[in-house]
Amino acid sequence: MIILDGKKTSGAIKEEIAAAVVELKKQGKKTPHLAAVLVGNDGASMTYVGAKVKACELVGFESTLLELPDTTSEEALLHEIDNLNNNPEIDGFIIQLPLPKHIDEHKVLMAVNPEKDVDGFHPANVGKMALELPTFLPATPYGIMELLERYEVETSGKNVVVIGRSHIVGRPMSILLSQKRTAGDATVTLTHSRTKNLKEITKEADIIVAALGIAEFLTGDMVKEGVTIIDVGITRVEDASKKRGFRLAGDVHFDSVSKKASYITPVPGGVGPMTIAMLLKNTLQACQ
Ligand code: NAD
Repeated sequence: MIILDGKKTSGAIKEEIAAAVVELKKQGKKTPHLAAVLVGNDGASMTYVGAKVKACELVGFESTLLELPDTTSEEALLHEIDNLNNNPEIDGFIIQLPLPKHIDEHKVLMAVNPEKDVDGFHPANVGKMALELPTFLPATPYGIMELLERYEVETSGKNVVVIGRSHIVGRPMSILLSQKRTAGDATVTLTHSRTKNLKEITKEADIIVAALGIAEFLTGDMVKEGVTIIDVGITRVEDASKKRGFRLAGDVHFDSVSKKASYITPVPGGVGPMTIAMLLKNTLQACQ
């Protein structure tokens, strides 16, 4: 069994990005600048945004963190987005999700200039992705494709089962894996909460991408020998033995599934760090 080490792989990608930034600076060109907008004080969101800002510093990017209270009106947030769209210093920006309930997420994502949409969530960029045109790929699926590619996991002609159909992970994952491309050419089944007999489907899979957000949902009896496992889930599970009172769990029951797997991503240290590295890569692309 081989661990698909997202921490190590993302480290290599960050080094490549840092070298590109040094080169840009040498040529007197602009330093990439990523802005992140955080509305409210959700603990997990604050951790994710903090990690993204720290990663920017590490590769030599400029970064701006815009922290807004959870009482921020939709109109005020749209105004801030307009400012970022029109600020030539900012190459790309992200709006950390989820947003407070009184704000229409769709309206907000639509307001982002597609050329600065380094999360790849704007419909214009989603459309380009589906049509295999150059664009910003959403960071989590992009990170998974990169991990499969760098570990040379064979996907061509393989049966891939994606669990979860969210707009940011499951759906784009199913599209990318089925495309004619590196780490693509797979036969993809997209499953979700209404899928019947999921276990029968997962047992046939050569590769499983679990992105449903239920801790340790996929167990050893649901997979076949030799399967490749991509675990996207991050759930906080209460754990009194930990100083912070919780541990992070993936969607995969690692102990039972890893016994049968040929490749598997750990949680933490798998998909999570890859997501951040690909966000940086998109920002570099936006700057260039
Ligand atoms: P989501 O809540 O938007 O979607 C969950 C999906 O799972 C839905 O499409 C639903 O139909 C499906 N689902 C729910 N119960 C199911 C069941 N019993 N059987 C089959 N399908 C079922 O989730 P999301 O935003 O895609 O996130 C999924 C998980 O991935 C979460 O734990 C999230 O925290 C994590 N995540 C991690 C990263 C990362 O960088 N590692 C990035 C994004 C999301």
